Amino acid sequence: MIGHSVRGRPIVATLSGDATAPERVVVIGCVHGDEPAGMRVARELVASARLPDAAIWVVPSLNPDGVAAGTRGNAHGVDLNRNFPFDWQPLGGLEYSGTHALSEPESRAAQRLILRVKPDLTIWFHQPLDLVDRSGGDPMIERRFSQLIGLPLVRLSRYPGSASSWQNHALPGSTAFVVELPSVVRGELVRRATSAILTVAGEYGSPDVGGAMTPGSAADPTGGIGIGLDIQPGG
Ligand SMILES: [Zn+2]
Repeated sequence: MIGHSVRGRPIVATLSGDATAPERVVVIGCVHGDEPAGMRVARELVASARLPDAAIWVVPSLNPDGVAAGTRGNAHGVDLNRNFPFDWQPLGGLEYSGTHALSEPESRAAQRLILRVKPDLTIWFHQPLDLVDRSGGDPMIERRFSQLIGLPLVRLSRYPGSASSWQNHALPGSTAFVVELPSVVRGELVRRATSAILTVAGEYGSPDVGGAMTPGSAADPTGGIGIGLDIQPGG
């Protein structure tokens, strides 16, 4: 357990794989309570018989109160993905960013875990945009993941106070990115996402990644769309 929600629900992280493995990965299944599909990926990951070649900390839900209520925000109405301490700004409405950075116990729990584990790779699941967000980490890894999961790689906005932007700045050399699952997620996509995580976790930092990125195999499914653009998504 890594912390509690505002309403006292436990926030749990399960270690899958070998804690001493050199490659460390964190997977967050759900941040916005009304975007719960990544929790299925998290469960599949923990139950998987395929042993990861990495230490993978799986947090099915960072926002158990929001999941219980079916709301984007936590029980204070805070959008946790605007509550992290990089470029935090006061925002209202559905993107209410809290009274200050890390004002919420859920974001503090994530920050503690991430600063303790210092993951090489972190994957944050959202819905419903059906893409992999080029979030500011190593673009080769983001592209590799988008190929494996079969979703286009697109650069969305970098939101103030977002978790992935904070990580990509706080832990230089590491990669954190957002996966936006579609609104309706079939079991086949859950299995593909799980397999993609296990594959990328094993490849991370290995010379094989470079080999897999040779021209011809690295076709960008977006055809380059999104490069340098600043599209407003739901994030
Ligand atoms: Zn979201």
